[in-house]
Amino acid sequence: MSTIIVVGAGINGVTAAIELKKRGHKVSLVDPGPLPHPLAASTDVSKAVRAAYGADQDYTSLAERSIQLWRKWNQEFGVELYHEIHFLFLRQRAMQPGDFEYESFKLLEKRGHKVERIDSRVLHERFPAWNAERYPDGFLDLEAGYAESGRVVAQLIEHSKSLGVGLCEGSRFSALVEHDGRVRGVVLHDGRSVAADVVIMAVGAWTPYLLPFTKNFFRATGHAVFHLKPRQEKLFQPEQFPVFGADLSSTGFYGFPIGREGVVKIARHGPGREMPPDSPDRVVTAEEESRLREFLAETFPALADALVVNSRICFYCDTHDGDFWIARDPERAGLIVAAGDSGHGFKFAPVLGELIADAVEEKSNPLLNKFRWRPEVQPGDKKEAARFLPAKS
Ligand SMILES: Cc1cc2nc3c(=O)[nH]c(=O)nc-3n(C[C@H](O)[C@H](O)[C@H](O)COP(=O)(O)OP(=O)(O)OC[C@H]3O[C@@H](n4cnc5c(N)ncnc54)[C@H](O)[C@@H]3O)c2cc1C
Repeated sequence: MSTIIVVGAGINGVTAAIELKKRGHKVSLVDPGPLPHPLAASTDVSKAVRAAYGADQDYTSLAERSIQLWRKWNQEFGVELYHEIHFLFLRQRAMQPGDFEYESFKLLEKRGHKVERIDSRVLHERFPAWNAERYPDGFLDLEAGYAESGRVVAQLIEHSKSLGVGLCEGSRFSALVEHDGRVRGVVLHDGRSVAADVVIMAVGAWTPYLLPFTKNFFRATGHAVFHLKPRQEKLFQPEQFPVFGADLSSTGFYGFPIGREGVVKIARHGPGREMPPDSPDRVVTAEEESRLREFLAETFPALADALVVNSRICFYCDTHDGDFWIARDPERAGLIVAAGDSGHGFKFAPVLGELIADAVEEKSNPLLNKFRWRPEVQPGDKKEAARFLPAKS
């Protein structure tokens, strides 16, 4: 049994704490709180859950396992926090080999998923909020949906406490305690040192700022998210308006139907704005909102002038290649970094804890090679097949 401190109680930290506690370790989880932390990436009303990952078999099969476990979590927690309401991937041109959508469709079809090709006629008939002429091709993934992310984190925090994880909400990491090339604990903001055999840093976009020696590996980038109140609510219910990606490689826009909060959530995947997650510039700009309005007018005319009831900047912790980073630091024994979500980690919540715990225990896990410590990866090495191309600008 090891004494383990997990720093950061987003989805990486809380799932790691639960899994390591189940494996018999003594685990503390440290976060400034309140949890779920309002500035954490894992917060917010929804995150997309999909196995569509272009031609990337690793993420596709990991997501397949994750989706099975999301269904199980719904049962075990006795509350439906994963909603399998389908995912519509559309293109403004015909799908072609090499496209994210085409490659995803082909791989999912080959692996026996329920997928349906969608053209403008079907789009018009079944999904009336869409400007169907603009999106002639795409597919509906019937084994996908979204998870209520903030509520999932809250549920997992409660679960971790019930298992005996020591929750230090209100404590902030300030430095590693290091002796003789080994990490031996952490120093908290009040100056207290807490000893541990292993420290797991799961602080998302804060990683390059709290561990400056990782700043060549990670970039914290902010991305605008909007919650809109539609006038014609019926058009945006899940049956007629599943989770969507609107030609992701050209527009970057994706979003979610009306859920518990009565809002449509829309965000834009792209390069984002690099800044520290505590920056005062962490607010949506007029330019980001005007780009949203342009997109809405072209794609969902009934939402074009909908009221924005909430907006936020959510942070990715980007790696240069877009793959996660779950690895032991080769230069600091006892330190594990579980970060680098690159904007696509939440869907894997049910399998993240296992991956991180395997890294801690040095158990063999083929994915840990993909997510290894890899200083050799340089800016510009992005493997777009793993996700989708960022939108221009
Ligand atoms: C706009 C946006 C949309 C996204 N959409 C999706 C999606 O649809 N599907 C999907 O799968 N993924 C999505 N993601 C990615 C997903 O949200 C992330 O992969 C995931 O939430 C990252 O979790 P994390 O635990 O690494 O980081 P976080 O959730 O950011 O958690 C980090 C934690 O560290 C804590 N912390 C910070 N400083 C300290 C300190 N000094 N001491 C202690 N703790 C500290 C914070 O309080 C926070 O709780 C999206 C991300 C964004 C930004």
